[in-house]
Amino acid sequence: MYRTKTCGELRISNVNETVTLAGWVQTVRNIGHLVFIDLRDRYGITQLSLSRDGHAEVFELAGKLGREYVIQVTGRVTERTSKNANIPTGEIELLIDQLTILNEAETPPFTIENESDGGEELRMKYRYLDIRRPLLRDVLITRATMIRAMREYLDSKNFIEVETPNLIKSTPEGARDFLVPSRMQHGTFYALPQSPQILKQLLMVAGMDRYYQVVKCYRDEDFRGDRQPEFTQLDCEMSFVDQEDIFENFSGMVKHVFKKTKNIDLPDFIRLTYADALKYYGSDKPDLRFECKIVELNEALPKSEFPVFNNAIAAGNLVAGVNAKGCAAYTRKQLDELTEFVKASHRGLSGLVNIKFNEDGTVKSSVDKFYTEEQLKEIGKAMGAQKGDLLLIAAEKASKVRKSLGDLRLELAKRENWIAPGSWSVFWVVDFPLFEKDEETGEINFVHHPFCSPHPEDLQYFDSDPLRVRAQTYDMVMNGNEILSGSIRIHQRDLQNRVFNKLGLTEEEINHKFGFMLNAFRYGAPPHGGCAFGVDRWVMLMTGGETIRDSMAFPKASNGRDLMMDAPATVDPKQLEELGVAIIKKD
Ligand code: ASP
Repeated sequence: MYRTKTCGELRISNVNETVTLAGWVQTVRNIGHLVFIDLRDRYGITQLSLSRDGHAEVFELAGKLGREYVIQVTGRVTERTSKNANIPTGEIELLIDQLTILNEAETPPFTIENESDGGEELRMKYRYLDIRRPLLRDVLITRATMIRAMREYLDSKNFIEVETPNLIKSTPEGARDFLVPSRMQHGTFYALPQSPQILKQLLMVAGMDRYYQVVKCYRDEDFRGDRQPEFTQLDCEMSFVDQEDIFENFSGMVKHVFKKTKNIDLPDFIRLTYADALKYYGSDKPDLRFECKIVELNEALPKSEFPVFNNAIAAGNLVAGVNAKGCAAYTRKQLDELTEFVKASHRGLSGLVNIKFNEDGTVKSSVDKFYTEEQLKEIGKAMGAQKGDLLLIAAEKASKVRKSLGDLRLELAKRENWIAPGSWSVFWVVDFPLFEKDEETGEINFVHHPFCSPHPEDLQYFDSDPLRVRAQTYDMVMNGNEILSGSIRIHQRDLQNRVFNKLGLTEEEINHKFGFMLNAFRYGAPPHGGCAFGVDRWVMLMTGGETIRDSMAFPKASNGRDLMMDAPATVDPKQLEELGVAIIKKD
């Protein structure tokens, strides 16, 4: 037996027991005739001590130990004289009788402690050492606890876990496919699943009724923001359900996971329509841990000669603002920073009007030339302004104003610490549109994926005004992050065909890409719907990480590289030949 106890286990009640531990040397402190060693494993840290008296040989061996050596020790548990209240084993130490060095270790490239001296790239290259740090170890443990709780809940509700293949045909989720060339049939390719979407729908046709899978998905996207080329979904599908069944079932699951993982009882989840989410928060995944709604002002503005607002209204644009509560004392510099923030190219506003409701009762604005104090107060009333508040108003194309003010409210929350630590906001966003128009090409695209069912009430607009058609699509939003997407699916072949046609696919393309699915729909497809959770993001939120890299064992760096394995890498030309693949060099 390598060990009889773990390094996180011994307590005062174990005093006088003789035990064997195995683990990694965190630190060695040598003080004359005494040696103290902190021994670490996944479960914790135990202090070992050794005195030269009567243990000359062992003492000499201990002198050879370095950081991260793997050792085995046997000894007697004793009560410590100076206790450490910060760790569960802090009341005891182990007096070493026997010491075996199981493996030596070179000095690690960074310190293996929560506050490490290693930069992120270095730690990614040596991820196996990084995972020895309690911080990352605890994330992986929480991740496992969460996934266990998900399975527990779904198993109790009669779901069954079914594995679906990775070598398949393209399943569109709006991203580029990773392709795998076939050696047996040159010139043909498998696609790695962007999600098991079609397969899980076929499992419903197959009568499986309730399916789930913890599954890897692959999307070859540019490295915008917080993405990984492969990530994990909890993918689910149910037959004979409507949206209400889905909301009930998965609200229940999320609550169960919170209870099991963090002992938190979440309140019931509200529902927000997509239209309201955009209107009031400028985002389809708003953070509702603080108020600060966007207020539309087109109807509420008093008469004035101010050309910016007048022109915007005449052009059918939107005038809207947010009330930055308590920010009236912002300096010129702070206001300039906020203006620069909304002017950034991906937001694209040309400026912000500000109105300050000062503590002394005066009102000052950047448009004093055009509005009387009375008129400014009228605007203030529309926006719920009180003494001490700062109003920030934009007037441009509605989509730009909403996006910018949506981002601005988040920025203000950050600056002003409006979000209480440890607070949670979880809710559903419903009634997404079925289609959207690409602003550049004018093409009609799907919003979620092409298998979402239109809202029955809106089918009447399908041909005349497709952008008006709402889908039976929903997201779950957690602290301003989308952690679930799903929909009731189309289960009728004709309707599915109509959607493909609307998306501009020719009959030939439909047959080539989705013929097998449409064919399956000939044989009794039940009404069905489902969803998928982004597991990595959810874990990130539950563990306080900043990116989804922080929530997976072996992530890729931001340029898509695996720094530890050094992948992607070149391959032997013979392999390429076997695959019938030629490399075209770009100059
Ligand atoms: N397949 C979808 C996705 O990956 C989820 C779903 O509609 O169930 O977003």
